[in-house]
This record gives sequence, C-alpha cells and structure tokens, in this order.
Amino acid sequence: MLKLRLLNVVAPVYFFTATAVTFVFHFCFFLPTIFPVPDASLWASTSLHTALFLFSMFNALGNYIMTIRYPAASAGDSAVPVCSPHCSDKVDAHYLLNDRHFCKLCRKVILKRDHHCFFTGNCIGKKNMRYFIMFCIHTSCTCMYSLVLGVAFLTVEYSISFEDPLTFLTLLPLSTGYFFMGTVSGLQLFLVLMLYVWLGIGLVCAGFCCQQVLLVARGQTWCQMQRGRLQGVQSPWQNNLKDVFGTRWILGLILPVQTVETSLEEKQE
Ligand SMILES: [Zn+2]
Repeated sequence: MLKLRLLNVVAPVYFFTATAVTFVFHFCFFLPTIFPVPDASLWASTSLHTALFLFSMFNALGNYIMTIRYPAASAGDSAVPVCSPHCSDKVDAHYLLNDRHFCKLCRKVILKRDHHCFFTGNCIGKKNMRYFIMFCIHTSCTCMYSLVLGVAFLTVEYSISFEDPLTFLTLLPLSTGYFFMGTVSGLQLFLVLMLYVWLGIGLVCAGFCCQQVLLVARGQTWCQMQRGRLQGVQSPWQNNLKDVFGTRWILGLILPVQTVETSLEEKQE
C-alpha cells in the first residue's frame, strides 16, 4: 500500500517534469533552430507551430486540472470498504452497489468507477471521464507533435537523416555509446531519450483513449471489464457517449470546459 501511495505522488511529479522539459525543448531548442528568428519568411510557420503546440499543451493541462477539479467521488456517500484488510486488491474495495466503488487510495466512494489514475492522483469515474479522455487525446497529440519537431531539430542541427527507418531504432544505442566515448553531450543524449519517451507516452495515451471511448460507447467501465462483468449493450451507443461527453462535446475538444449541463448531471446521480 505504501508503494501505491508513493506512486500516487511520484507519477504527477513525473508528469509535470515531462511537461516542463517538453516546454523548454520547444521554445529554447526546436523553434529557434528549425525556424531561425531573423528569417522573416518563416514567421507564419513559426506562429502556426507555436499556436498548435500551445493549443494541445493548454488542453492537456486544462483537462488534467478539470479531472482533479471535478473528482468522481460521490458527495453524499460515506461507505466503508466491504472487503477484508487482507484483500489482494490494494485499490478497489469491491463496493459494488449501484456501480459505486470505494477506492482505498482516494478513501472515497466513486460513482461508476473506471480506474484509479496515478498521474492525476485521482479515481476516474462518471464525473471526470470526459476530461480524462480529452486529457489522453491532447497528451498524445502533444507528444507526437514533440516527436516530429524533435526529429526535425536533429535533422537541421546535426544533419541526421531519418529516411532510413533503422535510424530511429539505432539512435538511442548509438547515442549512448557516443556519450560514453565523449563525442555526444549529456543534453544531446537526453534529447534522444525524450524522443522515445514522447513516442511511448503518445502511443500509450492514444491506445488507452481508444479503449476508453469504446468502453464509454458500450456504457461500461474498465472495472467491469477487469471483473469479467461485460454484459450486452443495454442502451444505444449515441446515448452512452452523450451521457459522458454531453451535448456540447465539440466545445470540449477545443477547450477544457464543462460540456454537460450541471443540473442534468446532478439529476442523473
Ligand atoms: Zn482512487
């Protein structure tokens, strides 16, 4: 349990550190190198890339905050866990009445609990699922976009050609070797490492997002899937999606705002 509590603190720190590093790489290395400031003809491209990066990062951070600001906890419930203190599941206390679960880490009853997200330090459930999915979408976009600009930076700055797909595969082992031989600096090695981090996070977030959208469309949760409680689809997928994303879901794609009428949500509880 102590390890999980520690992870609950370490994961958000990792997220903010990765965000800060990405921000610094973009504005201190990528943009000034790929689009040199004195070249006025590149002004439009620089502005477009800056706007795109800030847009996806603003939405990723905004939805991260909204996930925490609107926790999935049930305000009126103060249930006790139903499993024994020796239960092997260290997070979920199997409190399944009306799809409410008691999370041992959050110490709260969660409405339609999906899973405990260590990066936000919160449970994901009915109230914050929409922000969590938007957070995954924009985090994936930010990482993939950073990867593309990182590759462009290496091409411009160090004349590394990525035409051969093997270049990307051999980049990290070769850079590590050159680092120990003293021909590659620590910063260069760190940048190469970040390319793989962005690729990894980008792919994981995209895959996770697809899975969550699929579950939401079926009106089901990760918790139910884990316990083999996936029953047949009970209501149309359009209604399930509208239930989570609200009627103003397009607005939610471009801004981290509330897209479900608050009064409607309270009624559904
Ligand atoms: Zn939790």
